[in-house]
Amino acid sequence: MSKWEFKRVSTLFNDKTVLGDLLPQQLRLVAEYEKALEVAVTSKVANPKFSNYFCKESIGVAERHILPAGNIEYGLCQALHGEESAVAAFRAFYGRNIESHKILGIVSNGDPGNMAAPCGNCRDIMLDDLGRDLEIVCGPENGGVAVIARLSDYLFDRFGIWRILDNWDCTDESPLFGSEEISRFNFVNQVLDTVVTGQLLENDAYSPKGFLPERKYYVLLVTQKNKFYGAHHIMCDYHPVYAIERAILKALDIEKDPFIHHIVIVTKDGPEGFNGVPPHVMYRDRQHLYELNLYQELLLGREVDPPVYLVKYNTNKNLNSFGRILKTSIKEWLPLPFSVRHFGPEFLESLTKYQKERQ
Ligand SMILES: [Zn+2]
Repeated sequence: MSKWEFKRVSTLFNDKTVLGDLLPQQLRLVAEYEKALEVAVTSKVANPKFSNYFCKESIGVAERHILPAGNIEYGLCQALHGEESAVAAFRAFYGRNIESHKILGIVSNGDPGNMAAPCGNCRDIMLDDLGRDLEIVCGPENGGVAVIARLSDYLFDRFGIWRILDNWDCTDESPLFGSEEISRFNFVNQVLDTVVTGQLLENDAYSPKGFLPERKYYVLLVTQKNKFYGAHHIMCDYHPVYAIERAILKALDIEKDPFIHHIVIVTKDGPEGFNGVPPHVMYRDRQHLYELNLYQELLLGREVDPPVYLVKYNTNKNLNSFGRILKTSIKEWLPLPFSVRHFGPEFLESLTKYQKERQ
């Protein structure tokens, strides 16, 4: 008799998770999920010298070997996260020629509903190196309900239909997206300013030209009082500051202005024109925006979810179309977020006090 009762994520609706019974193909793998959790429970990889938070994890292939993983902290509150160490352990053992059923185990430490909550950066590495179908099983050390999700449950790229912005010399004051305050005129100017300023800010001598152009975006963070621009800052050690993070650092520098009104993300089209691919914002950048939004909420004393506009900007002025636009929000595009809210009320109280004192 297993000490864990396994459930699967059946639907995600407005960030509310609904658990269901395992699918037939998952029922056949219960012993593998148990093994993943057992290896995670006994993992000795973690060395959390700052947080004292032991992320006990594991990774492997169903019906084959499972390896331990964990978080290793260094520098000042810098960490190789458990999921990152898992990717390295997996590739060290299995190499690159394996497409079989991959399972990541995580010991739940009071996570809500025993759902794992990987940070944005870990979603980036798992997406690129392990794929959307990776199964993540998360359960408490001493048994109870353990939840099986897929990495795809933690991703959001189903944005819906592009709207077309078709006026270069926009004088139209009618609001964009229904009753919202932003006018087409202001919006078009914001997009143009974001491109011009983003090009000036960008420091990227190292990313291969033409490779994953949807990840090379410029950012405008509009707060209640100010505008802050951002572009990627990439140095040779490959630990970049991404564009949203760069804008956030400015918003918090002197003015202490986390009161987000909206965010504009812009990528330019390539020689092929619009190919339908919207800006791909790295999940680490979404994570940082989520935390800025949390500061805003703690200071305001209520929840808010500012809009995010993703724009593909047409560089060819001979075409009528100015660009294409999709809309999401800070909370929508980061499902099941990693958040201080999971650490308990005392953490939130002390963070609120800290942010208020900084104002
Ligand atoms: Zn992480």
